[in-house]
Amino acid sequence: MSIYLDNAATTPLAPEVLDAMVPYLKEHFGNPSSVHAHGRETRSAIEKARKKVAALFNCSPSELFFTSGGTEADNTAILSTIRTYNIKHAITSPIEHHAVLHSLQALQKAGVIQLSFVDLDKKGNVVIETVEKLLAENPGSFVSLMHANNEIGNITDIGLIGALCEEHRAFFHSDTVQTIAHFPIDLGLTPVDFITGSAHKFHGPKGVGFLYIKAGKKINPFIEGGAQERNMRGGTENVAGIVGLAKALEQTYEKAEESKKHIVALKSLLIRLLQEKIPGTTFNGESANLEKSLFSVLNASLPASEDNDMLLFNLDIKGISVSGGSACTSGSLLPSHVLSALGANPQRGHVRFSFSALNTEEEIHKTVETLQSFFS
Ligand code: PLP
Repeated sequence: MSIYLDNAATTPLAPEVLDAMVPYLKEHFGNPSSVHAHGRETRSAIEKARKKVAALFNCSPSELFFTSGGTEADNTAILSTIRTYNIKHAITSPIEHHAVLHSLQALQKAGVIQLSFVDLDKKGNVVIETVEKLLAENPGSFVSLMHANNEIGNITDIGLIGALCEEHRAFFHSDTVQTIAHFPIDLGLTPVDFITGSAHKFHGPKGVGFLYIKAGKKINPFIEGGAQERNMRGGTENVAGIVGLAKALEQTYEKAEESKKHIVALKSLLIRLLQEKIPGTTFNGESANLEKSLFSVLNASLPASEDNDMLLFNLDIKGISVSGGSACTSGSLLPSHVLSALGANPQRGHVRFSFSALNTEEEIHKTVETLQSFFS
């Protein structure tokens, strides 16, 4: 039996999404920039996809730009905005995804910006007062704070932060890669300038994502080239990918309530079983708090053991795919930047379980039984 509990890393492609994409890999091959019938056909597919996505987020299609994924969307929002508007100060948190952190740190290293970090509380939540203080001291900053953390699932109130940014004339980017298709986002009501999405996180294809840029915020392209994406991103569009992204988004949102109910039940079961069967298990960040975390992520710290270095490998041998709280650097297992920021004990076994609607109760029982055999 093979068990996949690493859905925050990527999700399996939905069969209906593949079906929607196939015609654009086979018969409809025209270059969307061509003015002839073959080109018009694929251009129309892209624009239909854009309209679908815009309707789901209550924004205008002209505010959406397709990219090669979440990383490119984050890089574009950060690097292009800071360069275009000549911004000198940015605010972020130490537990952002590397697509955000490394982009900002590259600008800091090059002397383009000064970078300030907000404080986090013991559970990894942004301390709002530090955001307010940094904004008051540095009006016109660039702020990047993620909606939900990919490792510990903590959710940040982007409405509240957006309102503070407006008050202090700051640009606000939020990496929403982990919340897109899980939570409804109404861009008519959310004061955010840039959000990002990645199709493979919601049963769409890999290598395609999007960037939302609020109307009125004009930035220079990140990838120079042709006039694609209304001069915002050079390069022939990934037509099948874009069609697949829109289909996956539509379909995942359609089933969102039902999926959430199912996944919350699985997560609750896993929390209970881990506590019962493996005494001493603790949970990182807010991930065990169903109100304050992404319902699809649970980050557990299992008791210290000299075999913990091999934990993920041993689970893999038993057919269970999860992810660790570690970054593998030169052969040594170190806690990830997120768990390190929370002061995680490197002796314990850190495991991120992340679910999709395809997981079952039986898989949860089997996973805990397997883990229990390692710790008994
Ligand atoms: N941001 C977050 C929070 C993510 O979890 C990921 C994916 O791991 C990314 C950005 C990058 O997305 P992509 O894999 O599409 O480049």
